[in-house]
Amino acid sequence: MEDVFIGLGSNIGDRLKNLTLAACSVLKIPEVEFVKASSLYETEPVGMEGQPWFLNAVLWIRSAIPPMELLSKLLEIERGMGRVRKEPWGPRVIDLDILIFGAMVVKGEFLEVPHPRMHERRFVLEPLAEIAPNLTHPVMGVTIADLLQRVDHSKKVFKVAPWEATPCFGD
Ligand code: ATP
Ligand code: CA
Ligand code: CA
Repeated sequence: MEDVFIGLGSNIGDRLKNLTLAACSVLKIPEVEFVKASSLYETEPVGMEGQPWFLNAVLWIRSAIPPMELLSKLLEIERGMGRVRKEPWGPRVIDLDILIFGAMVVKGEFLEVPHPRMHERRFVLEPLAEIAPNLTHPVMGVTIADLLQRVDHSKKVFKVAPWEATPCFGD
């Protein structure tokens, strides 16, 4: 079993519904166990200006599924929710990224773990540091709390509310 951290983001439609449906779908994958969920964060878009703000969160699960298999399930959930890929970093109904997969380091054509841009993204590090501040980044060798301290703080990130997704997260 590995501890796996998944970053979720949405900036189209009912963003909270989208995050919650996606998280519940992840937790329905056989051999995936819920550990913890971050709060919900309102975040300023990065990469493409002028699009709506995102709702972001991080989900912590435990699983023995191989990383590529988990990735294909996440992409399937995105497709099922109507994700259409247009311009890179553009608006999306749902985005599911594998941030960290235990201590594994993968640098494949279709999968890179840890996520190669996670350490430069405040919208990832804030929710991740909320639930796992002492987690060590397997490549950089420093904690998430340290990465958050160092990250560029020019983009706005606001913690807005706890993420209540009962019954998916238990009660
Ligand atoms: P970014 O990766 O910068 O956050 P994005 O999430 O908008 O950008 P997508 O269009 O969602 O990018 O994904 C493009 C491809 O990235 C996916 O089809 C997948 O094969 C690949 N990929 C590589 N590493 C990962 C990872 N750790 N988690 C999710 N997808 C990944
Ligand atoms: Ca992403
Ligand atoms: Ca993605």
